[in-house]
Amino acid sequence: MYTKIQEFLANELNQIQSDGLLKKERIIVTPQGANVRVASGEEVVIMCANNYLGLSSHPEVIKASKDALDSHGYGMSSVRFICGTQDIHKTLEKKISTFYGTEDTILYAAAFDANGGVFEPLFSQQDAIISDELNHASIIDGIRLCKAERYRYKHSDMADLEAQLIKSQAQRHRIIVTDGVFSMDGDLAKMDEICALANKYDALVMTDECHSAGFIGKTGRGVPEHYGVMDQVDIITGTLGKALGGAMGGYTTGKKEIIEMLRQRSRPYLFSNSLSPAIVGASIKVFDILSATTQLRDRLESNTAYFKKHIKAAGFDIKVGDSPIVPIMLYDAALSQEFANRLLNEGVYAIGFFYPVVAQGQARIRTQISAAHSIEDLDKAIAAFIKVGKELKVIK
Ligand SMILES: *Cc1c(COP(=O)(O)O)cnc(C)c1O
Repeated sequence: MYTKIQEFLANELNQIQSDGLLKKERIIVTPQGANVRVASGEEVVIMCANNYLGLSSHPEVIKASKDALDSHGYGMSSVRFICGTQDIHKTLEKKISTFYGTEDTILYAAAFDANGGVFEPLFSQQDAIISDELNHASIIDGIRLCKAERYRYKHSDMADLEAQLIKSQAQRHRIIVTDGVFSMDGDLAKMDEICALANKYDALVMTDECHSAGFIGKTGRGVPEHYGVMDQVDIITGTLGKALGGAMGGYTTGKKEIIEMLRQRSRPYLFSNSLSPAIVGASIKVFDILSATTQLRDRLESNTAYFKKHIKAAGFDIKVGDSPIVPIMLYDAALSQEFANRLLNEGVYAIGFFYPVVAQGQARIRTQISAAHSIEDLDKAIAAFIKVGKELKVIK
């Protein structure tokens, strides 16, 4: 009998809508790229994809994916430990380990699964997990699935992290967990200070590199490289669904005993399907490209500097960070929605974020720069921001 819950759900959905929180999806009818066409027909510059390196529709990546489809088939119809492991799955794991200089790597269907399945096999009641308050939902859920004691520290507040380390000193094993780049502000975790505290208090360090793998750091190895502490981080999780090709898939990489324990006991790995060969083949190509040259991350860096310089010069208030995530602050929820709508009319696709996704009074347009953007694309976006900014009296 559906009647009772139907009415309940309809009411909840109405409430979500009247709170202005209903998420609507805009339909794109072309491949993901610097420019796309939306279903209503407009050609727009994309300023809100995680396609940081422009690999989502890169011809070499598409070709590698097609080749793998031909050589290794469409799907595995199996989890890894039954009959879902092909030579290319092992090759990709090896490539990821080599990229990071880690001992071993395990693949997942998504980074959500990597984070969901990392804590429970490694930590129990006697242990402690110490987590930044702004960590990604998948880390929060992963911690919930594990029996370890939970400690939370204020966002990037090293004094509070130290206080939590002191508080948790009686626990057997302890791990500090952080996003590498925080996606709403684009700020980097203070990985050098986190590692120093981990050393001082004998804790492990885990970083989620979803918004940094492939482009943060001189050679794109991520936030630990940026701070020169690659050898001090014990566990790295990441996604193949953002900069690294953008399809889907995730991984955990680090010390060999940790990875082996995950192969034995991590539930999203044991009880969920093997990554499809088309994704694995494409991902191998992605790591080959990134291991051969820093050209894409260098381009991303210069694009980001260009965009920030012009947006700032126009008088906008932006969050400063060392990532290609550039939040343009508007502070008002309704204004952020109106701003984004007008940008679309100018051929620029960006999204306004407001409470509860960001703190109350912190509404913004979050832009994300890509190596795929040409200077003309960025100029078009900058001109649209200036036009709409003047119309809405955000800038003079
Ligand atoms: C996107 C993201 C994830 C989830 O990645 P998927 O592979 O899409 O599941 C996890 N952690 C962080 C920090 C992310 O930004």
